[in-house]
Amino acid sequence: MSATVYVGLGSNEGDREAHLVSALEAMSRIDAVAVLHCSSLFESAPVGPPQPHYLNAVVALECTLPPQRLLCILKQIERDLGRQHGGPRWGPRPIDLDILLWEGEVVADPNLQVPHLELHKRRFALEPLSELAPDAEHPVLGMTVIELLTQLAPQDVRRCEATWWPETLLPVTE
Ligand code: ADP
Ligand code: MG
Repeated sequence: MSATVYVGLGSNEGDREAHLVSALEAMSRIDAVAVLHCSSLFESAPVGPPQPHYLNAVVALECTLPPQRLLCILKQIERDLGRQHGGPRWGPRPIDLDILLWEGEVVADPNLQVPHLELHKRRFALEPLSELAPDAEHPVLGMTVIELLTQLAPQDVRRCEATWWPETLLPVTE
């Protein structure tokens, strides 16, 4: 069975945009996954310990894998791009891939919660997500992405120009 899945990408170490593009390419190579749309790029102030600003985006995937399988592959992509697991929580990282929303699914496993538990608090995830799916509903909170954004305090998140990232909402071609 196929579902639309929204994955948040973040990078604040090294060539941030190159890391986002490499992660996008890696996701497009997964069997059973098709990249449908990409948001614009956003720059955001970090949450947690002092560290460089993040570059963020969200992609929409068409996916026939179960959520745990996709998580496993996303973690492998993070490792392939130089992410060291076991560093400080919310510390700097070349790439962070989070499953934000999974159409019609709620997952509450010890290692995977979907919708992502912080989604409704994070403008750096909701702003790009709102470009792709403004009316998608958070199945636990019963609010749309736009409604979640409206009730959120201002945060330092700005849309920025892309060099390599396919910032249009056009489907990504291989
Ligand atoms: P964060 O993304 O909150 O900054 P990490 O990337 O270090 O934190 O993730 C820590 C753990 O969060 C991962 O090992 C993963 O098992 C778990 N996790 C739980 N829910 C999700 C989700 N929806 N997407 C990605 N990881 C998740
Ligand atoms: Mg993560």
